[in-house]
Amino acid sequence: MSDDTHRQGTRWWTRLLDMIDERVSAPIDDDARRREWTVTVLPGTRTHVYRDPRWDRRRLCDHCSGSGLEGARPCRPCDGTGVITDQPVRHVEES
Ligand SMILES: [Zn+2]
Repeated sequence: MSDDTHRQGTRWWTRLLDMIDERVSAPIDDDARRREWTVTVLPGTRTHVYRDPRWDRRRLCDHCSGSGLEGARPCRPCDGTGVITDQPVRHVEES
């Protein structure tokens, strides 16, 4: 098999895999976007990465630096989890 024939075969195969990926992933990507998640396809791959922006509200507890402990007792601000979840800011519409 010549290099050119091999390359054409590879392109045909790549296009087929891209079409299958598009067919399989499109409804999943659409559902993720409907949930306001970010959808990223890693460059040069067919790997779809989904991220829920609610994770941005999670952070280490400032009080215990994530240990969950206040001495020998559970840290009170984070209830011993070491993590704080900030509540979303709600905008109140004036009527
Ligand atoms: Zn804490």
